[in-house]
Amino acid sequence: MKAYKYVIIGGGLAGGRASDGIRQVDTEGNVALVTKEHHPPYQRPPLSKGYLMGKQGLGKVYLKEDAHYAQNDIQVIAGVRATELDPAARSVTLADGRVLGYEKVLLATGGHAWRLPLSGNDLPGVFTLRTIEDADAIREAAGSAQRALVLGGSFIGSEVASSLAQLGLGVTVVFPGSRLLERVVPEELSAFLHAKYEASGVRIVSGTKPERLDGEARVERAVLDDGESFSVDLVVMGVGVRLNTALARDAGLQMGDGGAVMVDEWLRTSVPNVYAAGDIAAWPDPTFGKRLRVEHWDVARRQGMRAGRNMAGDEKPYTALPYFFSDLFDFSFEVWGDLTAWDQTVLRGSLDEGAFAFYYFQQGSLVGVLAAGRPDEERKPMQALVRARPTYEDVAARLRDEHVDLNALI
Ligand SMILES: Cc1cc2nc3c(=O)[nH]c(=O)nc-3n(C[C@H](O)[C@H](O)[C@H](O)COP(=O)(O)OP(=O)(O)OC[C@H]3O[C@@H](n4cnc5c(N)ncnc54)[C@H](O)[C@@H]3O)c2cc1C
Repeated sequence: MKAYKYVIIGGGLAGGRASDGIRQVDTEGNVALVTKEHHPPYQRPPLSKGYLMGKQGLGKVYLKEDAHYAQNDIQVIAGVRATELDPAARSVTLADGRVLGYEKVLLATGGHAWRLPLSGNDLPGVFTLRTIEDADAIREAAGSAQRALVLGGSFIGSEVASSLAQLGLGVTVVFPGSRLLERVVPEELSAFLHAKYEASGVRIVSGTKPERLDGEARVERAVLDDGESFSVDLVVMGVGVRLNTALARDAGLQMGDGGAVMVDEWLRTSVPNVYAAGDIAAWPDPTFGKRLRVEHWDVARRQGMRAGRNMAGDEKPYTALPYFFSDLFDFSFEVWGDLTAWDQTVLRGSLDEGAFAFYYFQQGSLVGVLAAGRPDEERKPMQALVRARPTYEDVAARLRDEHVDLNALI
């Protein structure tokens, strides 16, 4: 058994950032980062956008160049899965039989894409998107395809549809909800997006599910539950993620809904010396006074760094306001806060002018803001406002009035 001071399991954004967090605090202790992928740690947002379209290379996907890890004495063990975490023995067993001892271990194992259990879901030409290999395979298939079907109207589906349309394919998006990004954007914004997609030749089929996919050697036809059927050369399913947390569960860690790993404000799990971060971690959030688990880039980035620093002794609670972004055609937006539940929004600015912010309220309290094209000087007060959680009654009228300085509302 080789003994390490720190072992990180997972080579996504949270794992990669944790290795840097450790090194910022402890320049000596040996670090091993185990990832089942055949790559150095990397981030996923470009995989549905610039990388998928061939506009960005791996340089924009990898967090750091290979040399960085050797230079910082971080041993990346790639292409090998961790199969067992034994907190009593303080060891991690790998699929190739190696056993690594640890003083502190971080689980940053993220998730994998779910595949709809449809007839034909495993035909060649049917893809999910989570890894570099998935993006490469979709791009290659897109090179000789004309008609793509995207299943799912949330982020991955919307982004992939936008990228494939920009690559010149005729794209149909099918989802059971009534509109794109239904859970996170208000109706006006979905309508704005539908107009943008349709103007770019994307057909949106809402309120519908696929019944099956047909084909001989590869996918050729999609049949929907409303009886419609049409030819397809390529299908991408963007229908959600399942967490990679069997390792945590089997090690006896306290688990939450959907296989989440429960952590405290220092990102420590219920078992001593075992930390968790990123998509898998459900943490007690101080702004909203409840546990959150967020499958977004910024949370993985910040939690990875915080967990690494905490493991190395610079112990501070994780208090960042959740943030995410998305790019759909030429439209980009950012969100701060918790949009899992909201019942009212207030619009500041104008969609037609491309400069607006929706403020989201749940039971009369501000829970988040979605902004696009707003002046830079509003970024900080927007976040401060969400943290302050004012009531609808107090701020709605003034938020609508663009002459009112946001700082005056905090
Ligand atoms: C295509 C795509 C586009 C996205 N775009 C955006 C965006 O625009 N904005 C945004 O905010 N968020 C976006 N996200 C979400 C964001 O990428 C995730 O929230 C983030 O990747 C989570 O990072 P993580 O490190 O927790 O997990 P992951 O990135 O999933 O990394 C986990 C790693 O651990 C490895 N692993 C798992 N189990 C084991 C094991 N037992 N042994 C060894 N290794 C293991 C996995 O193979 C993986 O490499 C996107 C996600 C995808 C897939």
